[in-house]
Amino acid sequence: MATVTVTAKLHNSSLSRRKEWQHATRLYRDTKQFCIDGWENSDFDKSVTTASIDNDLYSAIQNQAIREAKSDHSKDGEVRYRESQPFAVNNQNWELDMTENGTVIVGFPCVSQWWYTPIEVYADIANEVHRLVDGDVDKTRLQVYRRGDDWFCTFNIEYDADTSGETPIGVDIGERHILAVTASGEDESMLVSGGEAKYVRRKYRSLRDTLSEAGALRARNRVGDKEQCRIKDLNHKLSRRLITFAEQFESPVIRIEDLEGIRVNSSWSGVHSWHFHQLQQFITYKAERAGIRVETVDAYQTSQRCSECGSIGTRDGDHFSCSECGRGRHSDLNASENIAQREGEPCTA
Ligand SMILES: [Zn+2]
Repeated sequence: MATVTVTAKLHNSSLSRRKEWQHATRLYRDTKQFCIDGWENSDFDKSVTTASIDNDLYSAIQNQAIREAKSDHSKDGEVRYRESQPFAVNNQNWELDMTENGTVIVGFPCVSQWWYTPIEVYADIANEVHRLVDGDVDKTRLQVYRRGDDWFCTFNIEYDADTSGETPIGVDIGERHILAVTASGEDESMLVSGGEAKYVRRKYRSLRDTLSEAGALRARNRVGDKEQCRIKDLNHKLSRRLITFAEQFESPVIRIEDLEGIRVNSSWSGVHSWHFHQLQQFITYKAERAGIRVETVDAYQTSQRCSECGSIGTRDGDHFSCSECGRGRHSDLNASENIAQREGEPCTA
């Protein structure tokens, strides 16, 4: 989601308009101050509504004043408002429209009525304003304020971000290589052997088997706890390495197989699937903390298909070859490249 701020001058406003906007500015300030003072003195609680606000502002504006006061109070506690601050209305209670001759009009409620006023649209905001008039983008709250003798309005426009500057990072999780990672279009990849995880699993399995045979059940369960700790450490380490790898690229987006795909594509099913689930969770929250988006993709045939041309190729151990385009590559990196190229969904792990 990208945000653009638009500020425009309200055009040719009559004296009666300007008087009413000035009046609204004062009432808006009073409403916010009334809330802050009330909360500070415990006169009422945070559930205060417009029913408690005794002035002539439209309730949509009163509501916005209460919301802003609440937010300021939770951040800064006792606040003193000045009268030069804007009054505002939430996104649903104002509109932007265009007349037949191309004049852009902003409409918002105030004290006595809704006011519709032309705004000056210069080249730097024309694109955004027209997209909003066409209904292609979303708008945020509207703020109205005075500077000198002129009145202005300002608001944000939100639209789906251009993703062309992003670097998709495809992550394949498997048994031989627990992480195979490719940064799409960057010629950079990372392979992490699954040897350590395999060693941990094997060691504790044989310990458990020995203890089971000896009937030492409590000792056997302790072994299970130890294995979980070792795997958890390993998952922390692996997810950190992945985030560090991703951070070297421009606007990285991590794409990872959905859990179902991890189960199908690896022989680590059943008892060991929690290892993968945990690894996926660690990757997701560490990425979030680093400001990196994580998406899950449908992993159908990501190991079988050539990442270059999409044909079904041949896999021989670690090597993947495509008879269609002649490409040969490490099989897990081929899979991670396919994952990087797929459309992702927001990850909910
Ligand atoms: Zn190919």
